[in-house]
Amino acid sequence: MSKSVFAWHDELDWLANFHLISWTSQITALAEGPVLNNAKALLQEISEKSITDEAITVRYGLKQICQSLTLLNPQGDAQICDAGNISRLNRQLKSVVQPGKNYLIAFDLTALDLSKKENQQAAVALLITLYNQSYHFDQLGYRSNPVVNEFEVRLITDSADNETAYALNIKARAISQGMMLARKLSDTPSCDCTPSDVARKMQLYSQSYNNIECKVLDVKAMEVLSLGALCAVGKGSINPPCLVELSYQGASNDQQPWVLIGKGVTFDSGGLWLKNGAGMSTMKYDMCGAAAVFGVIETIRLLALPINVTAVVALAENMPTDRAMRPGDVVTTHAGLTVEIINTDAEGRLVLADAISYAHEQLNPSGIINVATLTGAVVKALGYEITGVMSNNELLLSALQSAAIQSYDRIWPLPLDESFSGQVKSEIADLCNTPPNDAAIAVSAGYFLSKFSPERPWAHLDVGGTALTREPFLQATGRPIPLLVQFLCDVLLERTEESAA
Ligand SMILES: [Zn+2]
Repeated sequence: MSKSVFAWHDELDWLANFHLISWTSQITALAEGPVLNNAKALLQEISEKSITDEAITVRYGLKQICQSLTLLNPQGDAQICDAGNISRLNRQLKSVVQPGKNYLIAFDLTALDLSKKENQQAAVALLITLYNQSYHFDQLGYRSNPVVNEFEVRLITDSADNETAYALNIKARAISQGMMLARKLSDTPSCDCTPSDVARKMQLYSQSYNNIECKVLDVKAMEVLSLGALCAVGKGSINPPCLVELSYQGASNDQQPWVLIGKGVTFDSGGLWLKNGAGMSTMKYDMCGAAAVFGVIETIRLLALPINVTAVVALAENMPTDRAMRPGDVVTTHAGLTVEIINTDAEGRLVLADAISYAHEQLNPSGIINVATLTGAVVKALGYEITGVMSNNELLLSALQSAAIQSYDRIWPLPLDESFSGQVKSEIADLCNTPPNDAAIAVSAGYFLSKFSPERPWAHLDVGGTALTREPFLQATGRPIPLLVQFLCDVLLERTEESAA
């Protein structure tokens, strides 16, 4: 691997070809330093102008020092780690580093004192944004003349921090690689991303690594195991449903795995309760949860985390045909609970219900976290920046909240208690899949899911608002991969501390 971390006093001849990203607060230090000494006058001029919050990019007058220079955050280093500032800085990085172009980037981290944990977390968050800029739609292969971009990031730090910077860089790069795997799969049109396409991708993937195994349950196998809800959702489509288990083994066999479940509705027409055209246009993204848990496996494999994690994805295409499930039908779930189908468009909770109880019964998990673009209602409650979380376990909830703060991948808890029982009450079956009223839609969906793993720690992440971005165009974000990876790192840290105590 080529060297990726440098200090300002190193040989930096290569910098002449790079786009340097630094900080306004560093201007004095930069101007005094050996490398940018020649650009002293220019730097001073920029510093006099840099009074706004916007990033400033200079392309001229750099005299073979670097290709272009972007300065971030005029407010100074002390405020970088604030969540609001990180999200502003991430927006600035996205605007100065456009996907689909050639970039050699030198990112100056000297504004952050990397001996502090909060600064390390901020650095990882910023690097993740940078690395994610190397992904663009041409990589999906649908253009006749795709642009191939060269993308490389090198870090400049104080030499004392090099080792820390190196480790942070590895973490950020692994998380970004997982995110880009997930984004690419999510952005793939449904015609090339059917349940069996996804299953095949995961199978192929597992064949490259000794410590990853893949198991696919087709309709027949699912019928034997009574995964009635998942089968019902998928039966209207010519592309049959399936369930995939992708297991990463980083620890000994006797370590219980964490199970991450992803909703993988590869296209959601709404079924017979057909969505309108506009509502359907984003529905290739209804498998972002499945893509995200796949991406987590890729990241923890790259990091070689000593932990066992199984991703379970429930894959189905929800289509309106004469074979499709009907409003009023009753399906029997894997857990044995019967569900009256009120609205065929509330299919996510059905496929997840079976995946949750299957994981609970078959995989002996430490805990279960499911990820799903479950409701549009979560956007009404929390918007596009914050993922909704519900859990039956206080410890798990607070661990996720802590991981969210560390990773800048924000979540906010929604309530889960028996006051919502009326929202899943059916006159003829054990449960119904949609509430009789318009109230607490996101919570009602999560409450429904909570019935399928009552005894184990379980959490539900509704990424309906955060799994894809709408600006400047629709695309997957790769969230909540940073959150989940941080959570798993924290689980490991806790285990190490326990065994040391
Ligand atoms: Zn739906």
